[in-house]
Amino acid sequence: MDLELLQRALADAGEPSFRARQVWEWAARGAGGYDEMTNLPVALRAQLAEGVPFSSLTVVEEAESSDGTVKTLFHTADGRAVEAVLMRYRDPPARAGAGVGRGVRTGGRRSLCVSSQSGCPLTCTFCATGTMKFARNLSASEILDQALHFRRIEPVDHAVFMGMGEPMMNLDAVLEACRRLPDVGITHRRTTISTVGWIPGIDRLAQTGMPLRLAFSLHAADDVLRSQIMPVNDRYPLADVLAACRRWYEAKHRPVFIEYVMLAGVNDRYEQAVAVARVLDPKIFKVNLIPYNPSGSPYDGSRSQAIEVFRAALEEHGMRVTVRLTRGRDIAAACGQLAAARA
Ligand code: SAH
Repeated sequence: MDLELLQRALADAGEPSFRARQVWEWAARGAGGYDEMTNLPVALRAQLAEGVPFSSLTVVEEAESSDGTVKTLFHTADGRAVEAVLMRYRDPPARAGAGVGRGVRTGGRRSLCVSSQSGCPLTCTFCATGTMKFARNLSASEILDQALHFRRIEPVDHAVFMGMGEPMMNLDAVLEACRRLPDVGITHRRTTISTVGWIPGIDRLAQTGMPLRLAFSLHAADDVLRSQIMPVNDRYPLADVLAACRRWYEAKHRPVFIEYVMLAGVNDRYEQAVAVARVLDPKIFKVNLIPYNPSGSPYDGSRSQAIEVFRAALEEHGMRVTVRLTRGRDIAAACGQLAAARA
């Protein structure tokens, strides 16, 4: 819900200042509407239902993948497209020796991928959002409403700002949303902000008190290729971004997660892995190789064998590497794909 509008509506109704907090706490715990807020006077619930839409977003389309991933396309009140994804992971197998009925958790990790902008002004050539027209920054409430939508389905515990948009170009709203995510069940340590390498944002994030995680979309270790696939590299060249990541590490003593999307024949050769290892200090960086989701794109994703060779090359050179699980392939769940297909 639009939290500023809520504040104003409550003030106009002459309500005490704790009301906004009460309403927010219900919403953050997954309430489906004002009528569930039993510690609010009935008349006030009706008044809010009239004057403050329960969500700033309306669901346009929702798809569930065979792996349980849910992807939702929303519209803002002014008709802008916003996408978000819920990823459900199974628990690791119960530890040997755990007693029957003990230590058995019912759910696995529930991770949300949220958007910070409708569209994106950057034009990464492999990214569906990058090919769409940029609409605008989302408000903190519009970001939170993506999380609340899924919270109404089930409890959630992780969030990544890896949906549409560049979070560092809308950092005020992103940080405001992050401040409230713990109420929804997502602590700062389980919240990751992903960036193309927007240096002022990295530096600002390093100064916030919140222990958020930082992910950097590297995708190529040389400036020529990187500028080709990520034109923002001309503005913020790699060496300068890596220096900002080092400043982040000095300030936070927390690793920087490298995203590296595996594009067949573009950035997946052995020498390119060696070049990645050469520019990254393994003390600071952990690499996450991302199988490319090619739907509607001129690029092909690297084969899993090529990804394994690339991973082994990085490990040989001392890097910590993981390969991201693919999710939601059958529902166009990668950044911008649903909205781009509808545009
Ligand atoms: N602008 C930020 C966050 C949004 S994109 C950033 O670039 O980091 C989140 C991640 O998804 C980025 O690493 C991006 O390169 C990657 N991505 C975009 N399209 C993809 C696709 N089709 N398949 C796999 N990853 C993709």
